[in-house]
Amino acid sequence: MKVSGGPKTTVTVDASKIATVRRNNLGLVLRLLRDHGARSRAQIAAESGLPKATVTSLIGELVERGLVREGAADRSKGVGRPGQSLEVAGSAICALGLEVNADYIGVVALDLRGTEVFTTRVAVDVRELSADAALDALARVIREAAAAVAAQGVQVIGMCLATPGVVDAEAGTVVFAPNIGWQDVHVPRRLGERLPAALPAVQVDNDARLAAVAEHARYAARGVSELLLLTGEAGVAGSVITRGRLLRGNASLAGEIGHAALGIPGRQCRCGRTGCWETVVGLGALLERVADEGDPVRDAAGDLEERMSDVLARARAGDPRTLAALEETAASAAHGVSILADILNPEIIVLGGYFAFFGDYFVPVVKQRLDERAMLPTFPGIEVVRSPMGFSAAALGAARFVLDSVFQDPTLVDAPEPVTTA
Ligand SMILES: [Zn+2]
Repeated sequence: MKVSGGPKTTVTVDASKIATVRRNNLGLVLRLLRDHGARSRAQIAAESGLPKATVTSLIGELVERGLVREGAADRSKGVGRPGQSLEVAGSAICALGLEVNADYIGVVALDLRGTEVFTTRVAVDVRELSADAALDALARVIREAAAAVAAQGVQVIGMCLATPGVVDAEAGTVVFAPNIGWQDVHVPRRLGERLPAALPAVQVDNDARLAAVAEHARYAARGVSELLLLTGEAGVAGSVITRGRLLRGNASLAGEIGHAALGIPGRQCRCGRTGCWETVVGLGALLERVADEGDPVRDAAGDLEERMSDVLARARAGDPRTLAALEETAASAAHGVSILADILNPEIIVLGGYFAFFGDYFVPVVKQRLDERAMLPTFPGIEVVRSPMGFSAAALGAARFVLDSVFQDPTLVDAPEPVTTA
C-alpha cells in the first residue's frame, strides 16, 4: 500500500488494522464453510456480505494455506456455468488433544475437518507417580502420536493438555490438581523440555472445561447456549456454558462443584477439606460401594474402561450389591444436579465421564429428581443426556480448542513449503 504524507506511525497502524481485518475475514469464510458445508464463491459472498473480489482473494489465501480446497462443481442453480464448490480441507494438519487423569494418559489427533486421525490411551496410575514421571510418560505418548501422524503426512499445528483441578490457562500452569498430585506445574516449559523442538508449545486447561467445549459444539447448531456438563471421574467437575461461552469465574474456579459441601460431613477429601461432594459421587466412592479391596475393579493399574465394563456386566446380570451401589451413587449425583439446575437454569445437562458410561442408571434418576423438584410444570423442562464421547471428551475438547484458534485466525497455519524437484 502506498501512503504519501503523514507521520510514519500512521502507516504502521493502518497496515496492522488492514491485517486484522483480513485475518477476521479469513476466519469468517473458513467458519462459514465449517458450519454450513461446501458452497460456491458467489454463495460465500452473498452470505458473508463481502464483495466477490474480496472473497476470491480470501479463498485464494485459504487454498494456499491448505485450509480450503475446490470440491465438486455446484450445479444446484440449474442452467448456466456451475460455480466451483469449496470446502474445508486441512487433512494435512492436525491438533493434538492430550489428557492426563488419575487413571490414564490419552492423546487424540483431529484434523481440521474434525476427523480423528490418531488416538491412544495408556492405563497409568498417575497418583503413584511424581509430576516429572507423569510428564515423562506423557511426552512418550506425544512422541508416539507425532510419529504416527507424520507417517500419514499430517503435521501437528498445536497441542493442548487437559488436566483435572485448578488450571491457570493464561499462564499455562496447573495450579492445584490433588487427583493427580500436581501443584504449580508449568506445562509449556516442563513438557517442552521433554519434546523435540519441532513440535509446537503445549497449552493447558481444565479437563471438564475442555470437555464442555466439545459438548457444546454438538448442540451449537441447534442454538443451545445454556449447557451444564457434569463429569464424573476420580473427581467430579461441573462446566458451565452460558450465553454460548465458557464460565471461568474470578480465579478459574467456576465449576469446582466436586468440592462443594454436598457429601457426608467430616469425610476427608483429597483437597484438604472435608465433606466434599466427590467423596460420595466420585468414581472411587462408587467402586468402594461395588466391591471390596482386592477386587480387580478397584485396581487402579487396570484399564479403566475394562474395569467399568466389568461393573456394568455385574449390574446387567442383576448383582444386588452393584445395583445398590449404582442407585445410591446416582441419588447423590441427582441431589447435586438439582441444586446446580436451580442456580444455573440450563437448557441441557450433559452427564459425562463415568456418569455417561453408567447412563442407563444415572440419567433416569437425575431426570426424576429434576421433575420432582420442578417449581412449575409450565417451566421449560431440562433435557438430561449422556455424553456420547465417553472418556475421550476432554482430549477431544482440547484438540477442538486448538482447531478453534485456526478458525478464528487462519494465518496461524503457514502455507506448506513448495515442493522442489531437483
Ligand atoms: Zn474436596
